[in-house]
Amino acid sequence: MPALLRLSGRIALYCSFALLAACATRGPGGYIMDDSLTATGQSSRAQFLVLHYTAADTPRSLHLLSREEVSAHYLITDDDPPRIFRLVDEDRSAWHAGHSQWRGRTWLNASSIGIEIVNPGYTTQPDGSRLWHPYSPRQIDAALALAADIVQRHQIDPRNVVGHSDIAPQRKQDPGPLFPWQEFAAHGLIAWPDNAALRAHRVRFERDGVPDVAWFQEQLARVGYEVPRHGMLDEPTRNVVAAFQMRYRPQDIAGEPDRETAALLAALP
Ligand SMILES: [Zn+2]
Repeated sequence: MPALLRLSGRIALYCSFALLAACATRGPGGYIMDDSLTATGQSSRAQFLVLHYTAADTPRSLHLLSREEVSAHYLITDDDPPRIFRLVDEDRSAWHAGHSQWRGRTWLNASSIGIEIVNPGYTTQPDGSRLWHPYSPRQIDAALALAADIVQRHQIDPRNVVGHSDIAPQRKQDPGPLFPWQEFAAHGLIAWPDNAALRAHRVRFERDGVPDVAWFQEQLARVGYEVPRHGMLDEPTRNVVAAFQMRYRPQDIAGEPDRETAALLAALP
């Protein structure tokens, strides 16, 4: 202890005489702040990246996200080329996730960065089906470049790059089945089912049949979803299956726990 005291005394001495300007500043309340040491044990506030569509055009999206009770760190417009607005500093929380859960963490506004993309979402057809509106290639390029930059700077785990529908599957569909998650996987931004494992699991489920609902619920929870665990195929479980399908098998998002969905789930690291 005496040695430590002597050491800290010596550092204080250096600060007060040799390096005063570099390590001590006076705060507005009159206190002295010493910045001569930075802790090695620290990480970014941002541990999740969440993608959205706005379901509104650019002027309305800008108004909603900058003047109302919701916001996002970034907004990618549908101009050509798209503009990227920074509406909230990354060090601060934007209000984009709402009630949410992923991999055991809840209320993700505090620990995430949100990107909104201008896109109408879907139109309901006379037969009740949904017509989804595509993103422009330049919007996707902008989203990829922005996401890659954020993931790199904050060292976000690929398992934590998600859509709003993943973290709130009971109430959200964005960014929708036309969002190109596979391109995000090709850039190493999200986890993706391993091809060899996928082939093997297809053979396995062809032979053994579709697993029961409890298996699906267990696997969806393993991936990160908040999902019921009672072994019954109820509406909330279907919603979570559909959220998974929107990401990994967007051609069929009916929420049916089928053989291909089982193979995709089993092959996902
Ligand atoms: Zn959203």
